[in-house]
Amino acid sequence: MQIPGADLRAQHAALREDLQAAMTRVLDSGSYVLGEEVAAFEREFAAYCGSKHCVGVANGTDALVLALRIFRLKPDDYVAVPAFTFAATAEAVCLAGARPLFVDVDPTTLNLDPAALRATIAHIPGRLRAVIAVHLYGQPAAMAEINDLAAAQGACVVEDAAQAHGARSQGRRAGGLGRLGCFSFYPTKNLGALGDAGAITTDDDGLVERLRMLRDHGQFGKYVHQIVGLNSRLDALQAALLRVKLPHLDAWNTRRRAIAAIYNRELAGLPLTLPSAAPDVEHVFHLFVARTRERDGLVEHLNRRGIASSVHYPKALPEQHAFAYLGHQPGEFPHAEAAAREVFTLPCYPELSDAAVVEICQVVREWISTR
Ligand SMILES: *Cc1c(COP(=O)(O)O)cnc(C)c1O
Repeated sequence: MQIPGADLRAQHAALREDLQAAMTRVLDSGSYVLGEEVAAFEREFAAYCGSKHCVGVANGTDALVLALRIFRLKPDDYVAVPAFTFAATAEAVCLAGARPLFVDVDPTTLNLDPAALRATIAHIPGRLRAVIAVHLYGQPAAMAEINDLAAAQGACVVEDAAQAHGARSQGRRAGGLGRLGCFSFYPTKNLGALGDAGAITTDDDGLVERLRMLRDHGQFGKYVHQIVGLNSRLDALQAALLRVKLPHLDAWNTRRRAIAAIYNRELAGLPLTLPSAAPDVEHVFHLFVARTRERDGLVEHLNRRGIASSVHYPKALPEQHAFAYLGHQPGEFPHAEAAAREVFTLPCYPELSDAAVVEICQVVREWISTR
């Protein structure tokens, strides 16, 4: 049995004609960067998220960098980020010219822990400028608490929704839960392009023009460079392909949740910690992540059996060499560090069959019973 971690060829085979028509439309249009196709995707994705505006950019990391550039950060400014997330979340803070302030995560959701945020910002009075709330694995962070804590400091909340397209918190979609929402459309995300792409959502009329300038060399009009920006434009081709895929996102997310429900049913009662859903949120299972102290053995066993299990992520960010300059010590982020030692990911993507999920669970049970 060979079960990959994603099956994009199957996803695209089902949409082949529509994707080809979109590519041909762009090919024939003669317009390949920004333009009508991008504007149309921006309108459609903003509407999907329930946000007023959307600005298409080159990738999810740039979305975070551009969102942070809005705040004109200085080297002594702090941006709080969870200690356990994909590296891009913290990288973006450095690229925007500020300091990441790592905050430990909630041991059950693995999202930023509001209590830890409160305790951590007490050490840097007046220097917190923003908080990046990551909706890790597709589960919205504790936005109400995080928004309140940030507001009390005069700081803004940026969502890293790169794993949470379509997820909801108290009925509202990811991307509309903070001041700015950042998305990646990397091919394996819940909504993926056929290359790199990203977007920023916001309800704030005042920010949109600045974001549009920032993504295109700070231009206000042709060769009128108002601010120092960068080239982070979205391609027409990716926008056209995303427009084909967006109408399928809800059905794909429903399928991801159904797969997660099978895992939860089939793996119940085993000595594993299964993902737990916070109240009032709709998890979209970008990844199905469980925990065991004997993670490495289990992942190896699954891989030997042809099942693509992996680890998201093997280190807490303060443990990564890239962030060593911040001077953190082992034990400072106990929940993030424990998660990095124990988490493992099982295949969870819309094209995966029920039978394959049941078989994966069988292999997990077998490993547990024979070890
Ligand atoms: C994928 C991802 C990003 C970065 O997106 P890219 O498009 O690859 O730059 C940022 N944050 C998280 C949590 C992600 O999963």
